[in-house]
Amino acid sequence: MLRVENLSKQFGGIHAVRDVDLQVEAEQLHAVIGPNGAGKTTLVAQLAGQLQPDRGAIYFRGRNITKLRAHQRARLGLARSFQITNIILPLTTLENAMLAALPARGGHGFGFWSALADDDAARACAMNALAEVGLESRAGDIAARLSHGEQRQLEVAMALALQPKLLLLDEPFAGLGAQESAAMIQLLKRLKRAFTIVLIEHDMDAVFALADVVSVLVNGRIIAGGGIDAIRANADVQRAYLGESA
Ligand code: ATP
Repeated sequence: MLRVENLSKQFGGIHAVRDVDLQVEAEQLHAVIGPNGAGKTTLVAQLAGQLQPDRGAIYFRGRNITKLRAHQRARLGLARSFQITNIILPLTTLENAMLAALPARGGHGFGFWSALADDDAARACAMNALAEVGLESRAGDIAARLSHGEQRQLEVAMALALQPKLLLLDEPFAGLGAQESAAMIQLLKRLKRAFTIVLIEHDMDAVFALADVVSVLVNGRIIAGGGIDAIRANADVQRAYLGESA
């Protein structure tokens, strides 16, 4: 589904992402974990097309997408949900989901809004996405009224509204309480049956509950990759990420 070869990005003297190889198989949930400053945000921005790599290549379903822009990648089926909230708070939940689907429908600007508002297909697609995350009853509510957990669910719905083949989720557990985290785990367990998912995440409990494969990023490099048990047992991972006592 996704293959990354030799991806590198430098900011001045800092190698934020260095020679990263990654292979994400279809219908798997592949988690990328790593400590603060490991390069996760830089990696995900390159995968989604917000940041151009200095070197390396990204293949999506066999096609080299390295030079494509974010909305072009979205149209091919690669959708990103954002760590930093992308929600427009004065709009309704449904309007947010409809706006998020714009790149998939050939537009990427507010000029398309008036046409979109009357587009039944766009509305149906957005409602389906809201239903998948359990927010259909909040469709008419202003997004600012949603709880933090519901806003995170809306972000996932906004990625789903693009009808993607691959979901790129950037820290969907950030700032969630225990109950909201449990709900998000249930949601992603459901979604992982239907979508290939790349999950960038700090929350180790969530990663261990969900991932088929884990890649560990430290100082811009992938230092280990494999199933959950292999990652837990890996001495380099324990030292570099979980701490000596883990
Ligand atoms: P966190 O978990 O704290 O969000 P991260 O794993 O996402 O961290 P990045 O944000 O990708 O890590 O940062 C990787 C390194 O690159 C860090 O040392 C960071 O300071 C540096 N960096 C990231 N973006 C820039 C930038 N635009 N300019 C300069 N340095 C940057």
